[in-house]
Amino acid sequence: MSTPNPDAASTSCEGPVDESCAEPHCSRCDAVCCRLTVVVMPEDRVPSHLLDTRNGLTVMAHDEEGWCVALDSARMCCSIYESRPEVCRRFVMGGPYCRSVRAEYSERRALGIELVAY
Ligand code: SF4
Ligand code: SF4
Repeated sequence: MSTPNPDAASTSCEGPVDESCAEPHCSRCDAVCCRLTVVVMPEDRVPSHLLDTRNGLTVMAHDEEGWCVALDSARMCCSIYESRPEVCRRFVMGGPYCRSVRAEYSERRALGIELVAY
């Protein structure tokens, strides 16, 4: 899915992960938006080893668990924050899409449903 993505892992990495929290904040999130498909545009400056191709589009590659390979999984922060794709820069923390992906993620975890890559 080509979607706006995460400004996610962009902010502080402190604090517990809590997708059920009423007011979303990256510091209390599993960087859920970093599971979305991020289309990388020619003008983006992302290192080539982090890229993949899907349906003819250049996208951020995902790891085996479905997160963007640029995510620092120890801190749940974007490891290429300064050069993250434009689509990531436009993703709004607390916006409708952020809330939607967090809600779906929480529901799947609560029900023990296997997570899916988007
Ligand atoms: S889903 Fe929302 S709260 Fe979570 S990391 Fe992405 S922008 Fe931040
Ligand atoms: S490039 Fe950074 S902000 Fe964008 S999806 Fe990957 S880890 Fe998240």
